Amino acid sequence: MKRRTPQQERRALWNRAFEQAKVIVRARSGGRCERCRTAIATAFHHKLMGRTHPRCNENEHIAHVCLLCHTEIHGHPAQAHEAGWLLHDWDVPRDAA
Ligand SMILES: [Zn+2]
Repeated sequence: MKRRTPQQERRALWNRAFEQAKVIVRARSGGRCERCRTAIATAFHHKLMGRTHPRCNENEHIAHVCLLCHTEIHGHPAQAHEAGWLLHDWDVPRDAA
């Protein structure tokens, strides 16, 4: 088997954390959009958009949203930040809570 590079290893850990969070978030949402609470959720939205924050895959920083809400969040970032659907990296301490 080929040895993973450090970058591949980091990516694998990142993906595993995201997959684990998805299970929890899906159970939390019940498959319903957590923003409009009406439509079927189709996307797992990272509130920490850069995806490089060490805590970006924590459940509380991921929202299960429908396509329209996901588009609106990213289409209106200022409002999304105000409403808490987007977070700046510096809003969340980098070490675990
Ligand atoms: Zn929605």
